[in-house]
Amino acid sequence: MSETEVDLDAEKYEKHREAGRILAEVRDEAAEMVEVGTSHLEVAEWAEERIRELGGQPAFPVNISIDEEAAHATPSIDDDAVFGEEMVNLDIGVCIDGWLADTAVTVDLSGNPELAEASEQALEAALDVVEPGVDTGTIGAEIEDVIKGYGFNPVVNLSGHGLGHWEQHTEPNIPNRAVSQGTTLEVGDVVAIEPFATDGSGKVSEGADEEIFALEREASVRDRNARQALEQITEEFRTLPFATRWLDIARPEMALRRLKMNDIVHGYPVLKEDDGKLVSQKEHTIIVTEDGCEVTTRSR
Ligand code: MN
Ligand code: MN
Repeated sequence: MSETEVDLDAEKYEKHREAGRILAEVRDEAAEMVEVGTSHLEVAEWAEERIRELGGQPAFPVNISIDEEAAHATPSIDDDAVFGEEMVNLDIGVCIDGWLADTAVTVDLSGNPELAEASEQALEAALDVVEPGVDTGTIGAEIEDVIKGYGFNPVVNLSGHGLGHWEQHTEPNIPNRAVSQGTTLEVGDVVAIEPFATDGSGKVSEGADEEIFALEREASVRDRNARQALEQITEEFRTLPFATRWLDIARPEMALRRLKMNDIVHGYPVLKEDDGKLVSQKEHTIIVTEDGCEVTTRSR
C-alpha cells in the first residue's frame, strides 16, 4: 500500500457502515411515525429502543426540533408534547463500539414542503462534489447555492463535522456557506454533512432549555445522587451526549445541576432560529472514497 492509501475494509469502517445501516432503517421508520397528534416522547423512545434491538447504541438522544428549533431539543422525562401542524426535524445517531453514524430528516407537517426540499437538494448537491482533495468551502458553496436558489437562507452558524471514535463532533468543520477554511477531505475521512435551510435570516442562538448533556471532565463528587449519575455517564455514555431521561436515578435533574455547577458535565441548550422562523435539516454520514463518497446512512 502506498503512504496515502487507506484500507476502507478495516474494522472501523465496517462498524461505521453497520451503524449507518441500523440508523437508516430507524430514521425512516421514526419519520413514518411523525403525524399530528403523536407524542414526541413515544417517537424518541421507540427509536432509541429500536437502535438497541438492532445491535447499536444511540450515539446521542433523538433530537426532535420543532419549527424555529434547529437542534438539541429532546423530550424531557414526562414530556407530554404531541406533534401539531409543524416543521419537525428528527436528528438521530448510532454508535457501534464508539464508531458513529449521524443522520437527520425533516418531516413537514406545516405545509412548507419547499423548505424541507431545499435542505434535501442542498445535501444531494453537496454529496455530488465530494471527492478526495475537495475544499470544504466548495461543499459549503453548493449548499448555499441550492438553498438560495429556493429563496431561503442556509443556517450559517451550524455546520457538518467529522465523526471520531466516541466523539460526535471532530474536525473538519463542513460549512453551510461558501467559505474556504483551507481544509480538504481525503480518502477515509468519515464526516457528516448537514445543511439547514430557513425562511429567516439564517442564524441560530442558544435558548434557555437544556435536556442534553455530555461529560466535560473526569472528577469525583461527594453527593450520592450526583455520584450515581456520574457512574452511569462514565460507563455507559462516556463522552457522548445523553438525555436527562436516560439517567436511572431518583433525582436526575438535581444530579445534573450539581454536576454542571462543578463543570463535570456541560449542557447543550436548544438552538433556535434568531427570527423565530422555520428551519429544515437534512443530514447524511459519508466515508470519502477514491472516486467520491459512500453514504452510510442512505435508505435501503
Ligand atoms: Mn445529526
Ligand atoms: Mn451532525
